[in-house]
Amino acid sequence: MDRIDIKSLTFDELSEQVRALGLPAYRAGQIYQWLHVKRASSFDEMSSLPQSLREQLAGQFELITLRQAEVLVSAIDGTRKYLFALPDGNVIESVLMRYRHGNSVCVSSQVGCRMGCRFCASTLDGLVRNLRPSEMLDQVYRIGLDIGERISNVVVMGSGEPLDNYDNLLRFIRLLSDECGLHISQRNITVSTCGLVPQMRKLAEEGLQITLALSLHAESDATRRKLMPVAVRYPLSEVLDACHTYYGRTGRRVTFEYSLVRGVNDGTAQAAALARLLKDQHGHVNLIPVNPIKERDYVQSERKSVEAFKNQLEKSGINVTIRREMGRDVNGACGQLRRSYLHPQGPEDGAKRRQRAEQGSAQRTRPAEKEG
Ligand code: SAH
Repeated sequence: MDRIDIKSLTFDELSEQVRALGLPAYRAGQIYQWLHVKRASSFDEMSSLPQSLREQLAGQFELITLRQAEVLVSAIDGTRKYLFALPDGNVIESVLMRYRHGNSVCVSSQVGCRMGCRFCASTLDGLVRNLRPSEMLDQVYRIGLDIGERISNVVVMGSGEPLDNYDNLLRFIRLLSDECGLHISQRNITVSTCGLVPQMRKLAEEGLQITLALSLHAESDATRRKLMPVAVRYPLSEVLDACHTYYGRTGRRVTFEYSLVRGVNDGTAQAAALARLLKDQHGHVNLIPVNPIKERDYVQSERKSVEAFKNQLEKSGINVTIRREMGRDVNGACGQLRRSYLHPQGPEDGAKRRQRAEQGSAQRTRPAEKEG
């Protein structure tokens, strides 16, 4: 029988397990704290538990811990891209961004992705598998321990479509914001979706206070279909209606992400159409000049088109910001995260090898030689 993934259990579920083992109830609190506050990576570390109990737990439960395979540090802005090896050898990427308001971690939700957005590297090889709640949590836990500082914000914007892994995502959010765990405020957690309408509607009813970000990227269905296959399944009218409902049910303003692709979606007439589309929405637009990936020929909008697009939206009364690009030199920016697999000599695949060759300015640190 498979051992139970203990880090994915809620406190109530863990208490139930502890009771079934015939242990006193207070053990559940101790174990939960070792897992989610002290972020122990093995049962052996749980020094307040008797040795015999640690052994019993190890026989019964699996403690998922990610192995830090590599860290790439941006020479431009100090952004750190982590490559984590999962227990099955797959490698995922997570990014730490340091802002004045705190430390933000960008978490992956799947190995690969099956949404097929034309401009995104994470989807090039399709979906391999969903991440478990413990595997999402441990990205935040390991990075917090690595830098020895508090993580205040989490964005689920790494590889994968979070709403395509709905149940695990919800469990992850509840554990991450649990006041007996790391207690990251739900208001500081953002989930970005390409627009899976049924799941967006379901999310609106969960009683959460997280921010929903919608990858909009277009002012019309025709443009959106060129960029995102999911737009064929869900027309903009339905996607935007789901956003409206999300705001209505949660009171949380929606973020509309808009990656600007030269000559495709960055015209001022398109900005005007976008403003009309969003005029009844309670939210704001976040513009992201597209980060080119070598497998596609999309080109970033020129600076002056980005400014003109922004001005047009502002003139129409839409709140708009331009996303500060972080970690470009370590391929840690939006849409640049891709999957790889751990080989005996380290995480490597064709793409990674090419990526390695391209990295000029970035510093690479392996765990053993990490800076203090
Ligand atoms: N699956 C989720 C998370 C994706 S990543 C979603 O679709 O929202 C977070 C954001 O980066 C999304 O808005 C995504 O569309 C955008 N993105 C993907 N590739 C990009 C690229 N090459 N340049 C700029 N933004 C990109």
